[in-house]
Amino acid sequence: VLFLAYRVIKRKQKLSLSAVDGMETGNINSAVDFNDLKLLELIGRGRYGAVFRGTLNGCCVAVKVFSSANGQNFLNECSIYSLPLLRQHDNIARFLSADERTTADGRAEFFILMDFYHHGNLSRYLTVHTVDWLTCCRMTHGVTRGLSFLHSELNRGDQYKPAVAHRDLTSRNVLVRADLSCVLADFGLSMKLTGTRSSHSGDEDTMTISDVGTVRYMAPEVLGGALNLRDCESALKQVDVYALGLLFWESFRRCSDLFPGEDVPEYQLAFQAEVGNHPSFEDMQSLVVRQKFRPRFPDCWKEESLALRSLIETMEDCWDQDSEARLTAQCAEERLVELALLTPQTLLHNYTALHNHRNLSHGW
Ligand code: ADP
Ligand code: MG
Ligand code: MG
Repeated sequence: VLFLAYRVIKRKQKLSLSAVDGMETGNINSAVDFNDLKLLELIGRGRYGAVFRGTLNGCCVAVKVFSSANGQNFLNECSIYSLPLLRQHDNIARFLSADERTTADGRAEFFILMDFYHHGNLSRYLTVHTVDWLTCCRMTHGVTRGLSFLHSELNRGDQYKPAVAHRDLTSRNVLVRADLSCVLADFGLSMKLTGTRSSHSGDEDTMTISDVGTVRYMAPEVLGGALNLRDCESALKQVDVYALGLLFWESFRRCSDLFPGEDVPEYQLAFQAEVGNHPSFEDMQSLVVRQKFRPRFPDCWKEESLALRSLIETMEDCWDQDSEARLTAQCAEERLVELALLTPQTLLHNYTALHNHRNLSHGW
């Protein structure tokens, strides 16, 4: 176990932090005395940061540490977390504070302090555990609800929250609480789509808009360089929803109630069977754009149950080749609410349960 006590160098001016668009720097730092922060164990390493479990005044926290080379990613993540209304949402990882220090050799280092999520990321959780139907619906619903909120442009009193695209939605960027509810995390690549910073133009921006994310989860229009930049707001939301469909597939494949009387298949990342653990951009281009390949559904899901049909349809409607035909996150959320109303019994055998429910809720 690594034990580090970070001594934060007190600076007169927090230059980098105050450069963040619209961020109330005072709020971000005042609540926390970083001198009391202890880093205890490395719990995750992504592309941009190392994440530690730590304690602050005896409370468990997570600390994401960025090197100076990833300063832009840090500033971007901070600027998203500090948007109005975000911190109150149940399905967005809870940001506590951010700070910057100088290492012994004079380089800047940045950190984000956040709630610690007991089970780590969703991919890891599903690798170790299977889930029953209701749990699986709750988990995926939480992710979808978080995304639907992120995508919404909201005016609440004098608070304005722009629509935001996540742009790196993957099962490793979803975190799982001890009660198995899920939150969206890792906003390092996220982008505000409305409000003051919404207009994009020029080649440089085109690059930064279209060329990000995790290749495995990249939508066909991103892989094929055909992202519709004229309606950037819709296009980037549709890219997120494509990845959401893949995340549903990864989750429901680990749902024990969908494999009665047989073993639940081992967890797989989307396309893992086809491209393995480290697909290249070209691998994904060939599979998703040229072959229009999508994850296969297990054989036992072929049974014509209306519920399974509806689940499959929801995934297919998220990862449609035609980006404009995809569900919105709001619609996907409604679909999951409907699915969650089914019990494991009705799920596989009562072909009309969902149909009846739809008639009841819409017809009366
Ligand atoms: P990166 O931007 O480098 O991908 P992430 O924010 O995605 O960094 O974090 C990397 C990994 O660290 C996550 O996939 C997850 O396993 C773990 N992690 C991140 N934040 C937390 C947290 N608050 N609680 C528990 N684990 C976390
Ligand atoms: Mg990540
Ligand atoms: Mg990231």
